[in-house]
Amino acid sequence: HSKQPPRPSFPNLLPGVKNIIAVASGKGGVGKSTVCTNLAVALSLKGYKVGLLDADIFGPSVPKMLAVEDAAPMLEKKEGRDFIVPVENYGVKMLSIGFFVEKENAVVWRGAMASNALKQLITDGDWGDLDYFLIDFPPGTSDIHLTLVQTLPITGAIIVSTPQEVALADARKGIDMFTADKVEVPILGLVENMAWFTPAELPENKYYIFGKDGCKRLAEEGGYSLLGQIPIVQSIREGGDEGKPVALNTNSITGIAFAQLADKVV
Ligand code: ADP
Repeated sequence: HSKQPPRPSFPNLLPGVKNIIAVASGKGGVGKSTVCTNLAVALSLKGYKVGLLDADIFGPSVPKMLAVEDAAPMLEKKEGRDFIVPVENYGVKMLSIGFFVEKENAVVWRGAMASNALKQLITDGDWGDLDYFLIDFPPGTSDIHLTLVQTLPITGAIIVSTPQEVALADARKGIDMFTADKVEVPILGLVENMAWFTPAELPENKYYIFGKDGCKRLAEEGGYSLLGQIPIVQSIREGGDEGKPVALNTNSITGIAFAQLADKVV
């Protein structure tokens, strides 16, 4: 979206980070964290330095997806103050709000508390030099989002949605949040997840379980790019549950899909 003016500069925040990318969705459960994690791994496999902040206070799932669920980030002293050392796996440096709250407590957090905790993970994380710093946003549009958007010099946002009408309606709200007056984060594009299903025994068939090309149309309507269409594949779900993102399998169809998504983002 070339019409959008450049973002204001935030001089002292994350000086070693070249690009901050928000990965957002309107609705929960559309595969935002799956896309974010696989994109992070795909970018890392391409040789980029990658960081990921799991800011999804309602369901921080990135630690599980990166097989570091039981990790406890260490503190280190540097230049006279404490830094939180991100946990690293598959070349991705990651901090999750899930490391710092009990699962049962996360959902009852109120906006200011969550926003402050997230700010702290951003400013006190020892992120170092990164080419891409991905932020897995909570679903929806709340004051937490607004704080993140106002605090961070976000380079661009990726919106993940299924092609289903209810998900698309929320995705539109997500886009509006980033493109609102005075916010003006460029939309890098949309990712249509769970775009279709192909059974192994009928490899030529595509079943459009959540509707066909919904995101594609939304992208066309708004003049945004469609960065990719990712089908429903059992191995994507398994990779998430097992902490082995499919993006690691660079020869598989799903691995290639996420590598192509990464190519569109760089
Ligand atoms: P969100 O971050 O939007 O809440 P998740 O990434 O946690 O969604 O995904 C929700 C569930 O759907 C997870 O179990 C995940 O493994 C699964 N999933 C996501 N995308 C796909 C896909 N393309 N194919 C199969 N399962 C998927």
